[in-house]
Amino acid sequence: MTTSVHLLLFREDLRTRDHRALLAATDLAHRHPDATVLALYVLDEETEGIRPLGGASRWWLHHSLVELQESLENLGIPLFFARGQGTDIVASLSAPLGVTHLHWSRRYTLPERSADAALKTWAKSQGIEAHSYAGHLLHEPWEVSPASGDFYKVFTPFWKAISAQGFREPYGAPEPLTQNPAALSQEVRKQCATLLSLEELDLLPTRPDWSGGLKQRWTPGEKGALAACNEFVDGNLEGYARERDFPAAPSTSFLSPHLRFGEISPATVLYRVGRSISVMTTDTTRFATEVGWREFCWHLVFHNPELHEKEFRAEWSHFPWGKADNPENKELFHAWCRGLTGVPLVDAGMRELWETGYMHNRVRMVVASYLTKNLLLDWKLGEKWFWDTLVDADLASNPANWQWVAGSGADAAPYFRIFNPVTQGKKFDEEARYIKRWVPELAHLSAVEIHRGAEQGYGVLAPDYPSPLVDLKFSRQEALAAYSDWK
Ligand SMILES: Cc1cc2nc3c(=O)[nH]c(=O)nc-3n(C[C@H](O)[C@H](O)[C@H](O)COP(=O)(O)OP(=O)(O)OC[C@H]3O[C@@H](n4cnc5c(N)ncnc54)[C@H](O)[C@@H]3O)c2cc1C
Repeated sequence: MTTSVHLLLFREDLRTRDHRALLAATDLAHRHPDATVLALYVLDEETEGIRPLGGASRWWLHHSLVELQESLENLGIPLFFARGQGTDIVASLSAPLGVTHLHWSRRYTLPERSADAALKTWAKSQGIEAHSYAGHLLHEPWEVSPASGDFYKVFTPFWKAISAQGFREPYGAPEPLTQNPAALSQEVRKQCATLLSLEELDLLPTRPDWSGGLKQRWTPGEKGALAACNEFVDGNLEGYARERDFPAAPSTSFLSPHLRFGEISPATVLYRVGRSISVMTTDTTRFATEVGWREFCWHLVFHNPELHEKEFRAEWSHFPWGKADNPENKELFHAWCRGLTGVPLVDAGMRELWETGYMHNRVRMVVASYLTKNLLLDWKLGEKWFWDTLVDADLASNPANWQWVAGSGADAAPYFRIFNPVTQGKKFDEEARYIKRWVPELAHLSAVEIHRGAEQGYGVLAPDYPSPLVDLKFSRQEALAAYSDWK
């Protein structure tokens, strides 16, 4: 190995553009031609508190890493894989590889921050330089705080403060290095027997392979992310504010899983959206605000590390949520997961999720409201199911949105505001195109019959479609009664 060895750690930042850690390491290597740059991805399911990925995310991660490995190779950098406790793995590899510098993009949950802080301390004790850089947000969470000095609990002032700071231009990709990645890879593997191949991370489902719908729907990786962004800017952006709530038409960006895995940075997304027009329109402003919600969710998690386990507003921990240890609740929950509730819009959403790893935002709100209010089940059950099945399952957006719908979250919808899935269906899927697509038992009916049946039952019109699990009006009253008893 050469005099300086730079090890780049990839985690939630699976891209080569607008990547400060990558730019810094390659910049140093360009200035010191005897330097070597190596990259490492550790599948860390062992560090205490780090949440193991759900099934759909694991599938996405595999494919994203395939592309990252190829892109890095084109830059002259070999990407290695390992599994275990991140800090231990890096420590065990650093001596045989002669690592002199570590570079990584920052992460923002408490267990991840603690792990990275421990790594920095360890590196210092070994005389290794450790450099961390801004990660997957527009601004570092500690750079934004209200005058009170606490943190923002309401979205609007948060977004106003963030927007006032402005958004930077993204960086490009680095210039390729002259080092030979294949030769380096061979040399490194000889010295480190613990390194694995990507296949050995075992991220893909095999028994059974349920990923057919995901494969059909998505192109994970940086190229897919840039293509989705360009397609959105050239297409759905115009009219976004008006169309974004209608699940039958593809009117949103579908960037969420790409942002989740850091295949594109939010700065790049906003820059491309902003550059596409000369003045901000209602569409661009609305879109930027949605990206702002992502940022707000991360702000909340940064200040409330247990957001996926504990109610943001502590008093809500005493709300009588139904738990899954009761057999009746288990059955209700199972029917919800499988899209067999007998409520067409809810079932359409849950089946879309199962098949594609995605669900439209409007429908996410409806199914979450149905679970927490009509079925009176704990929002954490739904959050966990989404965590396992969404390709964009996110440590911040998922719990924050679940708590928003349930009523226990920051700036949340009040509990007594209960989405009526039938009214929502009539309003946002008037022609029932979305419902027909995902609920074939109803596909032969007219939109009028579908919406009427959702209220009055289908009887012989749709004998294969399940009867409603609960009566919507009665369950709504029960939810309101539970709320007023608890209040
Ligand atoms: C119960 C529930 C759970 C959710 N879980 C997740 C999750 O795990 N991961 C996730 O990325 N989003 C989650 N969302 C938010 C939202 O549904 C998705 O971000 C959105 O549907 C993604 O589609 P899109 O990329 O086409 O969105 P667009 O409408 O194109 O929005 C652009 C980007 O803004 C961000 N965004 C939009 N809406 C929200 C929001 N409400 N909260 C936070 N960020 C938002 C996303 O990064 C999105 O990619 C959840 C919403 C609900 C109601």
